[in-house]
Amino acid sequence: MTTTSKTSDFRIGCHLSASEGYLSMAKTAVQIGANTFQFFTRNPRGGTAKPIDPEDVSAFLEYSEQNDIGPILAHASYTLNLCAAEDRIREFARYTLMDDLFRMEFTPGNLYNLHPGSHVQQGVEKGIELIAEALNAAITEEQTTWVLLETMAGKGTEIGRTFEELRSIIDRVHVKDRLGVCLDTCHVFDAGYDIKGNTDQVLETFDRVIGLDRLKAIHINDTKNPFQSHKDRHETIGNGYLGIETLRKVINHPALRHLPFYLETPNELPGYASEIALLKTERTGA
Ligand code: FE
Ligand code: FE
Ligand code: ZN
Repeated sequence: MTTTSKTSDFRIGCHLSASEGYLSMAKTAVQIGANTFQFFTRNPRGGTAKPIDPEDVSAFLEYSEQNDIGPILAHASYTLNLCAAEDRIREFARYTLMDDLFRMEFTPGNLYNLHPGSHVQQGVEKGIELIAEALNAAITEEQTTWVLLETMAGKGTEIGRTFEELRSIIDRVHVKDRLGVCLDTCHVFDAGYDIKGNTDQVLETFDRVIGLDRLKAIHINDTKNPFQSHKDRHETIGNGYLGIETLRKVINHPALRHLPFYLETPNELPGYASEIALLKTERTGA
């Protein structure tokens, strides 16, 4: 199949360190054969964010336009828990979410992924209520950034291990037209959706419960643990319980192939470069 556009329809990248800024991440992406990337908005375990450098941002915007980079995916800190039991932690998470979304508008029209939260001992219902409350306080009608709720493995008291839980959050958010989902292949399998044996059925379930139109990104990871382990440990591509057959199906699936794919596998840059090269050879019709 030939195409008149030089833009690749396969959007593939990996998680990169944000320590040197946006332009540096985009250049690294190009070096390893990627055309997009994911990064943490701030120290994933702490909470401090570097101030936005307007020069870096404008250089990045120009470079990514010229080199066909994007959409980029910002990942919220792991410590951000919108349904924490302790007021202080919850308030901090709410403030961080608002600040992150404010910062995202410097690079308009991109994606922001977050783990919905862990309800600790409060129960799923209470957790969902608190998450929706926080999202309602943060998401504005004017924003251009898509907020994505990640499908979770169900470790501990994580919310988002079922599509129904994500749907209940979405149902309670007032401004829905910038609210979506990021599907993590390791997490859904770990949560108990057999994306390996029944790829089509899992996607049909997703469509029925949430709607495939809300799916905006894929975390493409293999897993160190068998089906329904609820452990959340990523494996390098082809070396885990999902295997290359499943991941090939995912990147080529008619319902998914238009989406951006982000690797979060245990790798340094050379490992990411070879996984990107591998997935490109596995991509059909590109
Ligand atoms: Fe994540
Ligand atoms: Fe993920
Ligand atoms: Zn994970």
